[in-house]
Amino acid sequence: MAKTGPELENNRQNGNEVTGASGLVQVRSDLQAYGRKRLKQAGIETAGLDARVLLCHVCKIDEAELIAYPEKRVEKRIAGSFVELVEQRCRRLPLAHLLGAREFWGREFFVSADTLIPRPETECAVELAIDQAREVSARKGSSHILDLGTGTGCMLISILSEVEAATGVGVDIDSRAVELARKNAQALGVGPRARFSCMNWGAELEDCFDIIVSNPPYIRSQDIPGLMPEVALHEPLTALDGGVDGLDEFRKIIPQAAGLLTPRGILVLEIGDGQASKVLELLWTTGFERLDPDEPVKYDLAGRERVVAAVKVC
Ligand code: GLN
Repeated sequence: MAKTGPELENNRQNGNEVTGASGLVQVRSDLQAYGRKRLKQAGIETAGLDARVLLCHVCKIDEAELIAYPEKRVEKRIAGSFVELVEQRCRRLPLAHLLGAREFWGREFFVSADTLIPRPETECAVELAIDQAREVSARKGSSHILDLGTGTGCMLISILSEVEAATGVGVDIDSRAVELARKNAQALGVGPRARFSCMNWGAELEDCFDIIVSNPPYIRSQDIPGLMPEVALHEPLTALDGGVDGLDEFRKIIPQAAGLLTPRGILVLEIGDGQASKVLELLWTTGFERLDPDEPVKYDLAGRERVVAAVKVC
């Protein structure tokens, strides 16, 4: 049921075509202004953007259409959905959860509260893995890729989308994540080349992989309450929490990866800022060496340590 915000009441008094609960219709620009103000009051920094995106979402229009026809009437039922989404956003639900989707590597992925929302910085690891998968495929005719803790499947699916000769496996400890990754792979046209399984890291796998990618949980447990409420309250803790020093999962993944890679196989790991030297130390003492002539640490656009890559010693 559509609520009538204060702005809507004002607009009615101003003679605009906005009537809220009385059964008539509201216009786009008034709903947009209402959403922006309500979100701003709730302390959402991106209030204007979020109001626009949510309005376009419920109206099933793009931003150009909103700009071109701001005075167009909105059905009461749709206005009601908009007001409801604005209220949820005020309670800090992430925009991606409200939209049910997030763009990653130029493609639209379904997201849910069961998985980490794909982050732009993860594209750093994907870019490196794509280069490596192309090289391996050119040399061997194909490449086999593993994504440990696949979540939405965004890393594996993006790599397979770019490298046609590649096949892959994505595993996640959460069966709902596995289902979602499968759905994303189908929707993005790589379903036949991707397999997804529910398991604890790669313990039960029997394949041998040319490349392993992972964006494991690497936030220090004590830092989680201080994260943005969207993350701390609404994203799965299992996708974030890396233990006291943030490195617990690296200690499990790195030795496993050494056992699952082909000789000269490549491991690509997303890391948190300040973790590179410790993760590299783990790699060098677990049968990995430098992926020459590459720098073992890659930095994201903000200049933070973001990815480490290494090659398994024969
Ligand atoms: N691989 C997924 C991503 O990068 C999920 C990672 C995770 O749950 N930590 O978005």
